[in-house]
Amino acid sequence: MAVADKATRAVLPNGTCLIRRRAPSLRLKPLFFPLEPLMTELSGGPSLPQERRVVTAIPGPKSQELLARKNAAVAGGVGSVLPVFTVRAGGGVIEDVDGNSLIDFGSGIAVTSVGSSAEAVVRRASAQLADFTHTCFMVTPYEGYVEVCEELARLTPGDHAKKSALFNSGAEAVENAVKIARSYTKRQAVVVFDHGYHGRTNLTMALTAKNMPYKHGFGPFAPEVYRVPLAYPYRWLTGPENCAEEAAAQAIDMISKQVGAENVAAIIIEPILGEGGFIEPAKGFLPRIAEFAKANGIVFVADEIQSGFCRTGQWFACEDEGIVPDLITTAKGIAGGLPLAAVTGRAEIMDAAHSGGLGGTYGGNPVACAAALGAIETMRELDLNAKAKRVEEVMKGRLAAMREKYDIIGDLRGRGAMIAIELVKSGTKDPNPEATAAVAKACHSAGLLVLTCGTYGNVLRFLPPLVIGEDLLNEGLDVLESAFAEL
Ligand SMILES: *Cc1c(COP(=O)(O)O)cnc(C)c1O
Repeated sequence: MAVADKATRAVLPNGTCLIRRRAPSLRLKPLFFPLEPLMTELSGGPSLPQERRVVTAIPGPKSQELLARKNAAVAGGVGSVLPVFTVRAGGGVIEDVDGNSLIDFGSGIAVTSVGSSAEAVVRRASAQLADFTHTCFMVTPYEGYVEVCEELARLTPGDHAKKSALFNSGAEAVENAVKIARSYTKRQAVVVFDHGYHGRTNLTMALTAKNMPYKHGFGPFAPEVYRVPLAYPYRWLTGPENCAEEAAAQAIDMISKQVGAENVAAIIIEPILGEGGFIEPAKGFLPRIAEFAKANGIVFVADEIQSGFCRTGQWFACEDEGIVPDLITTAKGIAGGLPLAAVTGRAEIMDAAHSGGLGGTYGGNPVACAAALGAIETMRELDLNAKAKRVEEVMKGRLAAMREKYDIIGDLRGRGAMIAIELVKSGTKDPNPEATAAVAKACHSAGLLVLTCGTYGNVLRFLPPLVIGEDLLNEGLDVLESAFAEL
């Protein structure tokens, strides 16, 4: 069997990690045995204990030493949320150089949904490394790239003919979605939303809403980008009930009157906003905007870079309201931690750009493609959509109870394993970034990695790997609760 051959070959030249991490007799089991009981084995292995363990200050002395080297050698603009230096990660934990083991509620920003060392990802990527690392798909192609595009056509919403192009990063995917939409429509304007985040390159900075830290001092930005209101239920001035309708009406009015619908190439939106604060647009808003795009020949682009690939309990978050985007951008969760991104969409739109107009030296690197196929295999076999829904159930239950107790938790939202709480000053809706930072810091010290986000810096977001064990998930929430209690 081809798969077994590849796996055997892969283990020999690249065995260090597999042998060190798992009993040899268990190595190939996931290929032949039911996967459910092997969950811990798959998600980090018995030799990477799935536990929280804090044995030094966080960061510890060895991390501090490395941090000094980082500060001397790495550009100051490249920050780190929590400077503990990682040596191993898998399942729901990150182990650092000082021997601490942190519960991971970040997944490297929604990337390692299948864990940071998923068996199928390691197996397939190792086999590919041993075969060849690169040819450049634009020079001599290879099957893995095509297979990833075939999977994307199967997994993304809609049963129309689809095609894909692969890239290295989310920002690059968004840039290419704009290139493709402009080519197809022969129009220039691009419409984006308040609180939107689309990346850090010049065009995607222009598409991104928040100045600090993403844009400040980095202009001038790309032209022909227009920002319109988003249906943000918690902060909609007339209340959440009217939010979808009013926000859509305002957005459509601005597009029609200020830009001219006939000039718009693309409308780009995150079905659940990521960096902007895990905002779920009020129900009805997305369908209304998608309808408007369709009626006006505008390419509707769902940026699912953070929300895609089982993160929200569905393959893609736009499925929640039955949206079928013209184009969809993916990255982050797609390849179990290796850099890969894609634009997928209607074949006639994807084919609009001239031959040679899309690509890049590394886009769709063969090792990243192999990893993506391993990640998708893992998502299917472990039913990670169901797992994400279970994470939501556990988290929302616990967080709702905390919200009853602590009135600085103003809002609780999100879907699947993409959940957030928005912190405010007691008795108001005024953003409380200070408490947000304090709670995050307390969690970090106690061995729980959490991330913050939001336009006002007042959102704690939780993005555990979908393979996290339920005990660990609950322990993480215990730590969070203690942090609130101590505040
Ligand atoms: C992270 C992100 C991007 C940018 O992806 P990179 O890989 O960091 O370039 C774009 N859009 C969304 C919604 C994201 O979350």
